[in-house]
Amino acid sequence: MSSFEFASPHTEAEAVELLREPVGATTVLAGGTDLVSLLKSGVVNPRRVVDITRIESLKGVTAVTGGLMIGALTSLEELRIHPLLAAFPAVAQAADGVHAIQVLAQGTLGGDLCHLPNCWYFRNGYGLLAQDRGESLPAEGRSDYHAILGNQGPAKFVSASRLAPALIALNAKVRIVGPHADEVALLPLEYFFVSPKTEEQGICVLRPGQLVTHVFLPEPAGQLLSATYDVLQLEGLDYPLASAGVALEMDGPRVSAARVVMGHVAPTPWLSLDAAAALVGRSIDEASAQAAGDAAVAQATPLADNEYKVQIARAAVKRAVLRAAGLLQGVS
Ligand SMILES: Cc1cc2nc3c(=O)[nH]c(=O)nc-3n(C[C@H](O)[C@H](O)[C@H](O)COP(=O)(O)OP(=O)(O)OC[C@H]3O[C@@H](n4cnc5c(N)ncnc54)[C@H](O)[C@@H]3O)c2cc1C
Repeated sequence: MSSFEFASPHTEAEAVELLREPVGATTVLAGGTDLVSLLKSGVVNPRRVVDITRIESLKGVTAVTGGLMIGALTSLEELRIHPLLAAFPAVAQAADGVHAIQVLAQGTLGGDLCHLPNCWYFRNGYGLLAQDRGESLPAEGRSDYHAILGNQGPAKFVSASRLAPALIALNAKVRIVGPHADEVALLPLEYFFVSPKTEEQGICVLRPGQLVTHVFLPEPAGQLLSATYDVLQLEGLDYPLASAGVALEMDGPRVSAARVVMGHVAPTPWLSLDAAAALVGRSIDEASAQAAGDAAVAQATPLADNEYKVQIARAAVKRAVLRAAGLLQGVS
């Protein structure tokens, strides 16, 4: 591990000031469950690490006008059990998929959203675009766990965020602060993620000096059903091969509006308007859930080794829809 300066600010303002310089050479440390291994392996080499865990304003879930404000330091375990989140089962179900008490206790919302890809080329030092002498390694080499959607550009990794599909389905917004006075943005979460065309672009819109402080979750206008479904390879610690977060606004027995978002299938969480359209105006049953799953992957462009993920993503969407309505057997 290379040496770096370590700072522990107590306020958001101090944190962004510390993150501002050296430009592009500072990193946020939250729970550290992922960052520490990236520092150890030298994949991330900052000149300054800014530990945000002493900033009280970034902690906890608070009811505010029109919804909930969830601090970036809220742990995955709090998201799993917090009573204020009971109306949004998709969030607890997404956190519940992390089968390790240590990671649940230590991992945070902000760290999950900003989680760098698990792509084996990236983790071995080939960068986000996984290129060697101009060749795309996922395109030329093994691509088992890479993107099946949105993979026509240079980025072929999959977004690692477990919570983003559920939160985007629920119309969440992300609050970002920066080092300049009054630099505060509340951005729809689907616009936070980026499929980079260059290494410098990163995986999200955060620019040097910026920090995720909260996620705003709007309160539902009417009857809202939501769920997450992950397809995992292992029973224990594992990231999904594909996941889906759905939010369904109901008008009696019929869906009046829907948001369907897939995770781990593209460089960004993948909002499927076609899957949503397949549900609107229909009641939820096997046939409509299957139609949503089929529509969600109709445009998939799998790579040489990951055709199998298409069926898995289709099943994740179908089962998330059924789970939202309490129709998935064996799963609450
Ligand atoms: C052993 C192990 C097993 C795991 N198993 C699973 C699993 O089964 N399923 C699963 O989905 N996940 C799993 N994870 C991943 C885990 O959920 C994430 O690592 C965790 O959510 C990240 O949160 P953190 O606070 O520890 O982030 P950190 O490691 O502190 O940071 C992660 C990244 O986010 C950035 N960051 C953090 N907070 C902010 C912020 N507020 N603003 C801007 N940037 C920020 C950091 O700079 C860094 O790049 C596992 C991790 C480990 C170590």
